[in-house]
Amino acid sequence: MRNSLLKYFSAALFSAFFLQASFLQAQVLQTQDQANPQPDDRFKADLLVVVAHPDDETEIGAYLARAIFDEKKHVAVVFGTRGNGGGNAQGQEQAATLGAIREIEARRALEHFGVMNVWFLNGPDTPGQSVLHSLETWNHGDSLARLVRLVRLTRPTVIATWLPGYVAGENHGDHQAAGVLATEAFDIAADPAAYSEQIIPPRDRSDINNFTEGLHPWQVEKLYYFSDASNTDFMKGKGPAYSATDISPSRHVSYARLATEECAFHLTQDDTGQMATKALANNDLHVFEQPVRLILGKSHVESDVTADMFAGVVPEGISYHPPGPVTPEVTSQPTLQLGESWRFYRDFWRAHGLDRLAELVGPEVAVNFDSFLWVPLIIENPTGAPLNVSLTIDMPHGWTYVRKPPQQISVRPHQTYSFDFEMRTPAERVEGWTAIGIRADSDGKLLGAIQLRVQLSGGALPQ
Ligand SMILES: [Zn+2]
Repeated sequence: MRNSLLKYFSAALFSAFFLQASFLQAQVLQTQDQANPQPDDRFKADLLVVVAHPDDETEIGAYLARAIFDEKKHVAVVFGTRGNGGGNAQGQEQAATLGAIREIEARRALEHFGVMNVWFLNGPDTPGQSVLHSLETWNHGDSLARLVRLVRLTRPTVIATWLPGYVAGENHGDHQAAGVLATEAFDIAADPAAYSEQIIPPRDRSDINNFTEGLHPWQVEKLYYFSDASNTDFMKGKGPAYSATDISPSRHVSYARLATEECAFHLTQDDTGQMATKALANNDLHVFEQPVRLILGKSHVESDVTADMFAGVVPEGISYHPPGPVTPEVTSQPTLQLGESWRFYRDFWRAHGLDRLAELVGPEVAVNFDSFLWVPLIIENPTGAPLNVSLTIDMPHGWTYVRKPPQQISVRPHQTYSFDFEMRTPAERVEGWTAIGIRADSDGKLLGAIQLRVQLSGGALPQ
């Protein structure tokens, strides 16, 4: 009896001690949390979509409907611009006012999907197909800092963005810029030395005049691309594809219909909002029933290329995966290369471990009838001797020069020579593919040859 009483008192004492210890520990944790709270859960995203313009999210609208309504994923969206360029299919308003309108159209469209965490970088709409032009007008460094901040705030598991590559199709420079920035942010958001002012804790969060932001480094696990190419066959087998005609178990309509409803909010845009509104009125959704195709760009977790976007992800997150060391391309022989965006992408892909993207599509471009095509070229001479090059251009039938390339070129030792030529496309409308052959010879030997595939079309391309 005494023994059991002793046991009873011992157990009671132990429990009291344990309870008090737990209580004290909870108090310490609570005090610590008040001083240094955990990241704000209201902003945690599973998927961060990084695009250029209000309405770009509709490119993967059917997938977003699936992910949000039936897979219960939290989605956040970053737009590079407010869409201040382009025509207004709804009213008279233009330029900055059009941007103000399109910001609200995008917010309302995404609210229809329950997506409220939507941000806009400060890029202006930049018409054209040059990623470098868009990165320049967007103020590349400033936009990247803003995007890295939003990656650290939203802590996404997956990022989906436009393909950073040059393709025949709309090939919008702003789309490409969004893909470039998202790729860069994917690689550096977990680096504590990158934009450190964003991640050093504030001195006193409850006081004013704090100048550091208190975010945490964040490693995104997977990066996927979609494309505005006119023909997306090159994407097959390079990533997952999602049917738009599947019926949503929770909404009992097709994902295409849900995507069309979301798209219909973009009323200032003829080829998305107005088209979606008409499609719903006519109950003809065939334009919106294309499958959503993605390319797996990078993954830091085990995942098959064509597996679901969230296959293999680690719920608690992963540690920092710095991009691998970049091996500089050292050429000992002279080369002929396409310049400008094509040249940029060769270096960009190598720097971000995306060499596979170089094999997706060869050099290609879409151009309208009765229009102009500018072709930039570079000859590199890494040797110690002067290089004399003769150039031959094989031009398609009916094309004419606006500005001819030089036929003979001298490149000094260890120098790079940039030049270009411009052509006018034929006025007669014969749709299809053609090619421009570019050949450089030196001392009777082939130095380099390029086949630039050209798609002639009468459709709207960014000017
Ligand atoms: Zn766009």
